[in-house]
Amino acid sequence: MTPRLVDPFERAITYLRVSVTDRCDFRCVYCMAEQMTFLPKKELLTLEELDRMCSAFVGLGVEKLRITGGEPLVRRDIMTFFRAMSRHLESGALKELTLTTNGSQLFRFAEDLYAAGVRRVNISLDTLDEAKFARVTRWGRLPQVMKGIDAARAAGMRVKINVVALKGFNEDELFDLVDWCAREDMHLTFIEVMPMGDMGETDRVGQYWPLTDVRRQLAERYTLTELTERTGGPARYVRLEETGQKLGFITPLTHNFCESCNRVRLTCTGELYMCLGQEDMADLRKPLRDFPATDAPLVSAIEKAIGRKPKGHDFDYSRQQVEGQVSRHMSHTGG
Ligand code: SAM
Ligand code: SF4
Repeated sequence: MTPRLVDPFERAITYLRVSVTDRCDFRCVYCMAEQMTFLPKKELLTLEELDRMCSAFVGLGVEKLRITGGEPLVRRDIMTFFRAMSRHLESGALKELTLTTNGSQLFRFAEDLYAAGVRRVNISLDTLDEAKFARVTRWGRLPQVMKGIDAARAAGMRVKINVVALKGFNEDELFDLVDWCAREDMHLTFIEVMPMGDMGETDRVGQYWPLTDVRRQLAERYTLTELTERTGGPARYVRLEETGQKLGFITPLTHNFCESCNRVRLTCTGELYMCLGQEDMADLRKPLRDFPATDAPLVSAIEKAIGRKPKGHDFDYSRQQVEGQVSRHMSHTGG
């Protein structure tokens, strides 16, 4: 099929990440302040609106939908939305329906997610130590997440673990995390911490653990083979020859991945961000709500927005002060 969404730099947009809520049952220190103010409910797209919105993107050639948040599984009745999206998998228009979750509610929803066609899930987990887990997530409890991971795998889903690399926090667990994922046959991806939102007193630059350093430490114990695999995003992959496992590195700050970017992000209020690192966005909720009977204005707003997708982002950690910082939270844009 000829892609219908092609940006000014000839990149076909086939991947939509959708934040379905800004709320969360955790308060990870790098993501949210403990006293977060959430959006009034009426600002959020309803589940029906989310359906119309995502279906319009699928109609325009989007083949992969990743549901995120906030914590997507705390949105009330979210399974209704997943079940609705499965019709696009059945028609063949959508190739993958997936989600990124903190895992806290997976023990409840794993089977339903599988039944809706979800075959892979990304679970965020930064430490295997219960006390440290409680410290970094503030409200999270590790055993509950472990139960969720077990449930996801028992239901038949592939699990990928996402670890945010945090200096002075999980440096000492690097090999434990790698060993655990090797043993359990789960993919593992390290994410470099990004300058998002206003974290109050938290010193973000102090938490920054460059993945070049993670790789260097890994190379002391393992043989790393660079894989050519690209997903159109900021991830790069290596294979550890000794264990055969695949590791991913998401380094939005130290490497430029923009030339192959195939994705856009929809917030829970219907704003479309064409680039994670730029402020420019398009309000898609207005054409959606103003025209309940036709999607034509929405489709045209989407096409116009893609026509403005910028070439790249402006993050820069090279100075001690964070340049190009974006004021919105990851939980708003959807990480
Ligand atoms: N609540 C879900 C979760 O934690 O997986 C989905 C939303 S969360 C915003 C998505 C991902 O963004 C998580 O893997 C989280 O660790 C990551 N994240 C949040 N804030 C970040 C930051 N400042 N820098 C890098 N990654 C961040
Ligand atoms: Fe919640 Fe995910 Fe942000 Fe943690 S990273 S506070 S789990 S949205």
